[in-house]
Amino acid sequence: MISLIERLFPITRSITGDGVRETLSIINEHIPLVVHEVPSGTSVLDWTVPPEWNVGEAWIRDSSGRTVVDLVDSNLHLVSYSIPVHTNLPLDELQQHLHSLPDRPDLIPYRTSYYTETWGFCLSHRLRETLADGEYEVFIGSTLEPGSLTYAEHVVAGDSTGEIIVSSHVCHPSLANDNLSGVAVAVALAQRLASNTRGRLTTRFVFAPGTIGTITWLERNRDQIGRIQAGFTLVSLADGAPLTYKRTFDGRSVIDRAAALVLEESDVSHRFLDFYPYGYDERHYNSPGFRLPVGSFMRSVHGQTPEYHTSGDNLDLVDPAQLEEALDVLTRVIEVVDRNLTYVNQAPYGEPQLGKRGLYEAIGGKNIADLQLAMLWVLNLSDGEHDLLAIAERSDLPFDTVAEAADLLAETGLVQESVP
Ligand code: ZN
Repeated sequence: MISLIERLFPITRSITGDGVRETLSIINEHIPLVVHEVPSGTSVLDWTVPPEWNVGEAWIRDSSGRTVVDLVDSNLHLVSYSIPVHTNLPLDELQQHLHSLPDRPDLIPYRTSYYTETWGFCLSHRLRETLADGEYEVFIGSTLEPGSLTYAEHVVAGDSTGEIIVSSHVCHPSLANDNLSGVAVAVALAQRLASNTRGRLTTRFVFAPGTIGTITWLERNRDQIGRIQAGFTLVSLADGAPLTYKRTFDGRSVIDRAAALVLEESDVSHRFLDFYPYGYDERHYNSPGFRLPVGSFMRSVHGQTPEYHTSGDNLDLVDPAQLEEALDVLTRVIEVVDRNLTYVNQAPYGEPQLGKRGLYEAIGGKNIADLQLAMLWVLNLSDGEHDLLAIAERSDLPFDTVAEAADLLAETGLVQESVP
């Protein structure tokens, strides 16, 4: 995960252009991707795919010809989607195109202007304060032309048509935690799922530019989204904050209950947030027309750290242990969602006789009390209304014990999987 983040870090990404393509081609070295190109001008939900943006050089020189700001030094220096410019102008006019953070004077802010035609540079406030009066030469070698928006999918196939969706945005330039940590954890998660036993559900990974990419994906997959049973976006998983799960709009969907159960059964420091309609792409998945059960895993929360969307969000912020912890939790969450079936008790009148079906011997040598109790809970709650997560919650027994009890009961035919 660290080496992938390091490799992707220097690339100048935006919502379209070669930076996204290069990023996806590197991800494709780790997990096979199906890459989609959607032409500029295509209508997607309430939006339109914008012109494609690419940039070569971009710099500001002072009257002596000295370069004072250069895209080569940091790809945060240029406002993303800046129009091409080559002009001379006095400092007071240049100032109107500069962005800095007086309260964090050493950091370069990250700014975009996707849908308003303008240009600008971002720089540390300390550097900005050294700019002397006089003429400046500004050059932005960008292109904004008909092209396409690029996104990609990777599928880990399961036995049913039901799907779990894992979504991460791929549009930020050199920002490590917001964006690349989510990408790296998604890639590692895909690899881990592929090496596990084949699951019931298919897991679909979407790597798309934020907002417009996800909007495009939703537009193009409208007739298939009924398959989505659970999902989450991944972002900012590398910093020191507790693992944070943001609930879906519904708040009680399978993913919400699986995330709560896994985090509470673990010794991982964690917290929960209720759904709110900003943040990352979960807001599109949860919009009223879709209401897809897609939550979000993060650590520090969108916009709430001093490093957020600045040059402070760099490789120093990336803690490998935090990435690894998130990966373990997410693997487990998917495992729980995948195992979360609903059963129907086939002998619902009175408690069935477990002894004559060999169910007491089946539990020999194990944690008998728990497993026996779990069998009674599964039998009692298998009325077609309660899934295994609900049984684990209600009984306060570990999910794995409940699932094992259900497996044993299903083998004897005492419960049968409910087909919705
Ligand atoms: Zn961001």
